[in-house]
Amino acid sequence: MFDTILIANRGEIACRVIDTCRRLGVRAVAVHSDVDAQARHVEMADVAVSLGGATPAESYLRGDAIIAAAQATGAQAIHPGYGFLSENPDFVDAVEAAGLVFIGPSASAIRAMGLKDAAKALMAEAGVPVVPGYQGSDQSPDVLAKEADAIGYPVLIKAVAGGGGKGMRLVEAPKGFADALASAQSEAKTAFGNPHVLIEKYITSPRHIEVQVFGDGGRAVHLFERDCSLQRRHQKVIEEAPAPGMTPKMRDAMGQAAVRAAEAIGYKGAGTVEFIVDGSDGLRPDGFWFMEMNTRLQVEHPVTEAITGVDLVEWQLRVASGEPLPCSQEDLSIAGHSFEARLYAEDVPAGFLPATGRLSHLAFPEEARADTGVRTGDVISPHYDPMIAKVIVHGSSRAVALRKLRRALSATQVAGTVTNLAFLGALARHAGFSAGDVDTGLIGRDLAALTDVPDLTPVVAAQAVLALIGLDRAPRPLDGFALWSPVMQDLALACGDDMLCCQITTCGPGEIDVAVNGQIVAARHGANGWRFDGQPGAAVFVEDESATVFGDPTFVLRRLDPLDVDAGAGTSGDLVEAPMPGLVRQVFVSAGAEVAKGDRLAILEAMKMEHSLLAARDGVVAEVMAEAGSQVEAGAVLIRLEEEDI
Ligand code: ADP
Repeated sequence: MFDTILIANRGEIACRVIDTCRRLGVRAVAVHSDVDAQARHVEMADVAVSLGGATPAESYLRGDAIIAAAQATGAQAIHPGYGFLSENPDFVDAVEAAGLVFIGPSASAIRAMGLKDAAKALMAEAGVPVVPGYQGSDQSPDVLAKEADAIGYPVLIKAVAGGGGKGMRLVEAPKGFADALASAQSEAKTAFGNPHVLIEKYITSPRHIEVQVFGDGGRAVHLFERDCSLQRRHQKVIEEAPAPGMTPKMRDAMGQAAVRAAEAIGYKGAGTVEFIVDGSDGLRPDGFWFMEMNTRLQVEHPVTEAITGVDLVEWQLRVASGEPLPCSQEDLSIAGHSFEARLYAEDVPAGFLPATGRLSHLAFPEEARADTGVRTGDVISPHYDPMIAKVIVHGSSRAVALRKLRRALSATQVAGTVTNLAFLGALARHAGFSAGDVDTGLIGRDLAALTDVPDLTPVVAAQAVLALIGLDRAPRPLDGFALWSPVMQDLALACGDDMLCCQITTCGPGEIDVAVNGQIVAARHGANGWRFDGQPGAAVFVEDESATVFGDPTFVLRRLDPLDVDAGAGTSGDLVEAPMPGLVRQVFVSAGAEVAKGDRLAILEAMKMEHSLLAARDGVVAEVMAEAGSQVEAGAVLIRLEEEDI
């Protein structure tokens, strides 16, 4: 075993590798960019070396600097994690030329799987089923179109150098082929510098099932399958192991095919053989085809660890240091079921836009494994992938594991940035997914329902109100009572585009009524803390003027500076209304006065602030119904304008 290794990565995977180093007594060297100088993986490592810069090109992709760091710190081997340099055969060559060990497959194995056409040809030769198609070198449009006809529509055009869905086009019928080919080729040329494509049969409603393999350069074993069919735009969202509906016969056939694939290239280390599966008619041993091999540890490896009890990183270190495979195929078995959900900082309603922000609060439930590279206070920056964590659960059966996933997601707390947590929760409750009825089109078909955000309830708003005025933390309810000598208080909140006028009435010790836009929520303090209309309160995190009420979904409510409250909001055409309860300070007009839109008509004092009430249109004052010094309710009409001549 190595004495010291360097981890050429960041984030959760760097932390994950360091965890195993700790357990094995291996010294861990981290590398980091300037923006990651205080990152969790740096804190966890025994030694850290700065690579400088912020972008991957300035930092984690600098192979030379990483090799120099390994040599300077006495590391004998480099773990690449996933992404960055993990599948770069030139880096592997450079690592070995420097006398170091690359913890992963050989450069030649990576090259063999690097191009989709060559990999498919190699796999077909090794007796692994591949998707029917054309992966020849003749790239003339006529030949490709003829091949597409022979395969039968619909067909998929794929860039041979592709990845991340780039250079991929679905073609439904012959007339669309020429255009789709031209655009796939030009996209592939731009993205990969290689315009070559292959054509294959498009499998309708396919499942993505992949097999974890592990080799020691000679022999290989498989650690069963993972189902990664829950994808959005070819990106995995929730993964599970084993695959729902898998039969022993098909598992055997897939496992053996994957082992053949690994052994055909003398595979060393952890790898994943991805198959596309036709699930339209149940899982059949003749209904799966090789898609590609990922020559590294996958993001979703923890679900395999959960059901097999194997620490895949430990296996990586042992095999890379020269040990044979830790066990044989017969020693491996499946226990229970596991799910992994990828938690991202992203704005789901805005179309899953990557988000940034400082994680002012971050907490995971104890029952789940959370693989994360960030802590409370860390920043999700625009420089890297916006992943916050992977939430992993394990249960004795799929049903148990799924219930645990739902609970774990609703107990995960993130404040300071928007996340996809509600989307993950909705997916975990999706009827088809719950029944194990998955395919890669599931998310796309049900996207509207999966991203629908339920309305904010008055109970949630009331919890935010109590937290914002500090009453939820009052040690005894009596203190809360005593805090507020005026027994009424008003608060304006914003939740997204919604504005809420809240009125707090202290009725007695531990008894507060919160009116939210007129709807009253009874907050009562008992032995177990506050209850809201009889329901227990959720966890709430307050920072500055924002309250994050955690739950399914989590809502963020911001306390509005009363001056920001658009007084005009309560002004509806003819009527000038009080936008909130308050004291009329001054009235500037009397009946018969001509006013112009935007003129200040009165001043209302509420929440210790003055609010100008403005005319919503040009007109003549018909009536003034309030006088200076009078107390008015929210919505009270103060001034009426004469009806407009139409
Ligand atoms: P990339 O390397 O660009 O990610 P892959 O070959 O891994 O491309 O395919 C990505 C995804 O596209 C798969 O997970 C699957 O959902 C879909 N896909 C790939 N090949 C086919 C096919 N022949 N028929 C239907 N869907 C496919």
